[in-house]
Amino acid sequence: MAQPPALTVPTLASLGLPAERPLVLVDVDEVLGLFMQGFGDFLADRGYEMRIERFALFQNVYPPGGSEHIDLETGRKLFDEFFGGHCHEIEPAPGAVAALNRLSKAAEILILSNAPAQGERLRTQWLARHGMAHPLVLNSGPKGPIAAGLIAQTPHRTAFIDDLLPNLDSVAEHSPATATFQHVADLRLRPFAPRSERHRRLDDWIDLAEAIEAAVRS
Ligand SMILES: [Mg+2]
Repeated sequence: MAQPPALTVPTLASLGLPAERPLVLVDVDEVLGLFMQGFGDFLADRGYEMRIERFALFQNVYPPGGSEHIDLETGRKLFDEFFGGHCHEIEPAPGAVAALNRLSKAAEILILSNAPAQGERLRTQWLARHGMAHPLVLNSGPKGPIAAGLIAQTPHRTAFIDDLLPNLDSVAEHSPATATFQHVADLRLRPFAPRSERHRRLDDWIDLAEAIEAAVRS
């Protein structure tokens, strides 16, 4: 059986993050940025329609007037095109920028995104343009292994925020001491987003920033 590629974990120092304060790992899509809205606008320009009827991505996308959602292959093609040229067009999630500004007074912020590699440059520019110029690390697959590698480099408290339970569960399994929070930015998606007793769900960034601050305070 083919071995998965070895995981490369950047050092906090190489990311410009001193290991002297708590570390907060934050997702982008549906946490710092309104991905579904931005991807939906991109799709609309190409004649597709996003109807948010479940907690899914391509299964919510329909060809014009169609009653069958697009297939995985079409979805992936559109997704890659979006990240290659349009992922900087999304809006920040309400309250996210102010919350990161507040958190960065007491903690180091690292953005951990499962965006494809072709989105790195535009995503970095997007973060800077919206006043969230924190180091960006791209990952693919569950976030537990890379988060654990980053978290192991600091003796301080840590927190992790994501919209997806598989990522939150993965981090909880690999780094049990890390505080995990679920945030779902899109109002239409919230009712469909599964929650878990394992992770606090806070969809308002004001409440979320307060809870993160309390969790990493030593
Ligand atoms: Mg996300």
